[in-house]
Amino acid sequence: MKRTLPQWSLPAFFVALAASSVVFGGAGRQGPEFKIHAVAGSVSYIEGAGGNIGVSAGEDGLLVVDDQLANAEAEVVRAIASLSDQPVRYLLNTHWHGDHVGNNAAVAQGAPIIAHANVRRRMAGDPGIEGKKDEGTPRAALPSITFDDGLTLHVNGEEVVVLHFAKAHTDGDSVVLFTGSNVLHMGDLFFSGRFPYIDLDSGGTVQGYIDAQAAIMESLPDDVKIIPGHGPLSTLEDLQRTHAMIVDCADLVRTALAAGKTAEDMKGEGLLGAYGDSWSWSFIDADSFIDTLARSLGGD
Ligand SMILES: [Zn+2]
Repeated sequence: MKRTLPQWSLPAFFVALAASSVVFGGAGRQGPEFKIHAVAGSVSYIEGAGGNIGVSAGEDGLLVVDDQLANAEAEVVRAIASLSDQPVRYLLNTHWHGDHVGNNAAVAQGAPIIAHANVRRRMAGDPGIEGKKDEGTPRAALPSITFDDGLTLHVNGEEVVVLHFAKAHTDGDSVVLFTGSNVLHMGDLFFSGRFPYIDLDSGGTVQGYIDAQAAIMESLPDDVKIIPGHGPLSTLEDLQRTHAMIVDCADLVRTALAAGKTAEDMKGEGLLGAYGDSWSWSFIDADSFIDTLARSLGGD
């Protein structure tokens, strides 16, 4: 299902904080380093062990988007707490992967955890859902408020719009728009500057991923700041460039499939060419992206 974002009004006074950052952890011990980056308005993001964490801090307290891997709970909690002496009011999960929900219970501390219904279903091991799922998620870590299409929160002087896109990176993805601050957290609907991971076993599809990005790009103002699930703070142009790469790779694989080629043939001939040099990273290289593209597009 194709979704479009609501029109959002640009703030009359747009406060873009300088790219200041604060560093936690790392020094003198093993483990990830956490960096806090001011983005705009009420919004910051935390880079560390897993997907980027978005945080809105203000008079109502903290609204947190995602909370990274469970192996660094204390650092994640400390980094978030450094942004305000007020408590976490809401925790949003962009999707169910462990590098985005790993510290749910510790970060929420009883505040509502909000996510698409399929996020809870997969985390709770719902027998009615196909594909990957967890069995042992503690109750305190499960989303307590779920939605099907989206919802709006009114926090720290702005509307925070949460919108679901179906069958994209998983079957439970949402993006989060901070309408006053003019910031979008895209979860794993955006891996900035690198090949995307598309989790076909959690209901993701290549075409759904492409459609979601296209719908999002249509609705964004030029000067929006984008927090990707993975990678640095990005612009609309960065998203457009990454999207064009994915569309081109998908077209190459579609054409090869139509010519009767297998994924092994495509890998053998280096089908993605120079894209492999520029967009590969530790988790997804050209070969694994070909596997995903061929499996998803071959099943369309
Ligand atoms: Zn993910």
